[in-house]
Amino acid sequence: MVSDKFNIRKQNESMLLKKIIDEQNISRADLSKLTGLNKASVSTITKDLIENNFVFEIGTGNSSSVGGRKPVLLEFNPKVATVIAIDVGINYIYGIHSYLNGEEISWFEETDITISKENVLNLINKAIEVLTKKTDLEVVSLAIGVHGVVNNNDIYFTPYYDLTDLNLIEELTKLYDYPIFIENEANLVALGAYCFGLEAHSLVGLSIHSGIGAGIVNDGLLQKGQYGEAGEVGHTILFPGGEKCPCGNLGCFEQYASTEILFNKIKGILNLNYINSLLVKKEYYNNNKEVVKTLEENAYLLSIGINNISSFLNPQTIIINSPIYNIIPELIDQVKSNLSGQFSNKINIKPSALGKKSIVYGGVALASQNFLNINKLKFI
Ligand SMILES: [Zn+2]
Repeated sequence: MVSDKFNIRKQNESMLLKKIIDEQNISRADLSKLTGLNKASVSTITKDLIENNFVFEIGTGNSSSVGGRKPVLLEFNPKVATVIAIDVGINYIYGIHSYLNGEEISWFEETDITISKENVLNLINKAIEVLTKKTDLEVVSLAIGVHGVVNNNDIYFTPYYDLTDLNLIEELTKLYDYPIFIENEANLVALGAYCFGLEAHSLVGLSIHSGIGAGIVNDGLLQKGQYGEAGEVGHTILFPGGEKCPCGNLGCFEQYASTEILFNKIKGILNLNYINSLLVKKEYYNNNKEVVKTLEENAYLLSIGINNISSFLNPQTIIINSPIYNIIPELIDQVKSNLSGQFSNKINIKPSALGKKSIVYGGVALASQNFLNINKLKFI
């Protein structure tokens, strides 16, 4: 059964499943009309989907205007399988074990740690062990978000931790028998926002942590570029000849507007060795003038980056995923107020509704869409 489940779903099967998910419940006759498959094929494939628990029959719909029997409706069963998604941050690791539609079974997190080549595999294994220890539900796919450039599961540039050229996929494949995917974290933010959060079909997920990356979803599909480097907006140059960046450029956007740079400035203002987003939030709402000014400057720099993204990509929506912007919505208003240009004033800018889980939910989307062999998978 397990090996059968891992097989990539055949094209017609995936097409019917996608329609059943999109329509939420639908009759066989309407499936036939909407997909162009004849009724006999629909009947054969849905029989198979029902037998394998991918689809339920859920009672009857309305009979057609010319009368006749009320049709039986079909509904997707998101609990047919489960997936695991892990966000390997620079100084944290988050994990989720969920059903295919993102419904959470368990959550794992460890924060204020230093991720390195030496400990990352153990931390991922620990996360998987903790996430699955209370259940024997079948896991069919694992997705891992890495903060750096990833191409076809190869990690090849991680400027803020040392995972460059780590052959994580090979190590994990030795341990787990389900398909595993490694993906850039900003790509996962965009994919998660598309799959679980938004009406938008073209969007940019802007992930702001130690660096700044953009995931691009166009007409429901992730755009990664030839070498997986599309959306590396953190390395567009904001100040020519400016601060040195690990990428080799001088004056990159992320050397001025990343969360890490912001935190370092605020640590200096408050004379602290350690800071987190909740402390920053407290100082902001206590109206610490220097902190407010620093955050508003950050919003200004961010709006320049967003103006550039808008000019290149013209998305419907830009989702900001940042530990600061997720919890201080006034800063999103600051960004918006700075965007008055022709190419940016129509863009819908929102904080990520998925908050700190944005990357792991993108991982769930990636794992589920691969398991179901459905592009443009959307659960809303
Ligand atoms: Zn750079």
